[in-house]
Amino acid sequence: MTSTAIPAAARVNARPYLHGTEADALTAALHAGQYGHGPITEEFERAVAAYLGVDDVVAVESGTAALHLALLAAGIGAGDEVVVPSMTFCASVQAITAAGARPRFAEIDPDTLCVSADSVLEALTEDTRAVMPVLYGGRAVDLTQAAPVLAERGITVIEDAAQAFGSRHGDRKVGAYGVQGTLTCFSFGPIKSLTCGQGGAVVPRTPEEAERVRLLRMLGIRQSQADRIRTTTYSVDRTGWRYPMSALNAAIGLAQLARFARIEAARPRLWRTYRDALAEVEGVVLVDVDVERSVPFNCVVRVPDRDTVFATLHAQGIGVGVHYPPNHLQPAFAPWHRPLPVTEQVAQEIMSLPFHPEMTEQDVSVVVNALRQAVAR
Ligand SMILES: *Cc1c(COP(=O)(O)O)cnc(C)c1O
Repeated sequence: MTSTAIPAAARVNARPYLHGTEADALTAALHAGQYGHGPITEEFERAVAAYLGVDDVVAVESGTAALHLALLAAGIGAGDEVVVPSMTFCASVQAITAAGARPRFAEIDPDTLCVSADSVLEALTEDTRAVMPVLYGGRAVDLTQAAPVLAERGITVIEDAAQAFGSRHGDRKVGAYGVQGTLTCFSFGPIKSLTCGQGGAVVPRTPEEAERVRLLRMLGIRQSQADRIRTTTYSVDRTGWRYPMSALNAAIGLAQLARFARIEAARPRLWRTYRDALAEVEGVVLVDVDVERSVPFNCVVRVPDRDTVFATLHAQGIGVGVHYPPNHLQPAFAPWHRPLPVTEQVAQEIMSLPFHPEMTEQDVSVVVNALRQAVAR
């Protein structure tokens, strides 16, 4: 029995990373006194747009809200089907059901845990109106091969890029595809690469689409917050949701974005350290995140007898996780179940290793040594 102390950074699978400037930014926003959508939220929107190199970004209260509103803005609703991988956080699927649409679960490539052009094409039906690729682990999903068919059938691509802020697709940032492209949604939740505490964003394709998302996120009220306080009435133009990003969350996000270059360097470095250490470990397969172009969200391996390996590492205080139990097997989504053999197999094997920008090479080797021993048993 080895008695190597488990470093604190390896005890949890994922936790927020603070740069140290967030508390002052939050305090200033508290004193500014406007806690709902406000000028700080709009400053955050402009800063994210500038970072991505796009004209506009609409901030909302969560990644789930971003997906929900992107679907609605694209005209997806009752009777429509949305192709989505089963291997994702349940929020992707709940956003589809919240929009009144039906999920159509797609298979994944076991090497990347992402959908492929082929698996998307296989899943299409007459009712498919949208495809929601999930950028698992921060990896961009290339649907170029499917694009002609999707365009011909009027199918919108709405990316769940919750884990992919800062990643690139070819030489462009995820989200920066231009007017003809994809609708992209980000999350700025607690453990995402950039956190607002809670938050999300939609990258709209046109000014009209941006306006639609802004109307939907603010209860369908046409006037801006600033205009409303100057007039005696307001106009509720359509059904809407209460999904604004609080100025308090935006203040945290602005502080994080100013230092994001550190994260852009640290996360790929950590992933590569794991890759190199894991290369020697027999029986362990690393899920590829395309590290040359990605800001990795996590480090996921496939191991034999996963439940035993998981329990062994967990008992040693190592913060392993499983992302995710497949959605097509969840009770809430039973009506849309269909057999997905690759997903079901991979779901028995995947395990996420502790992944935090503060982890050192030494921390990684403690985790990998423990993994090696657990797998060899
Ligand atoms: C985090 C996450 C979401 C949801 O984002 P929230 O901000 O937590 O609502 C959706 N999809 C994926 C793949 C995620 O990782």
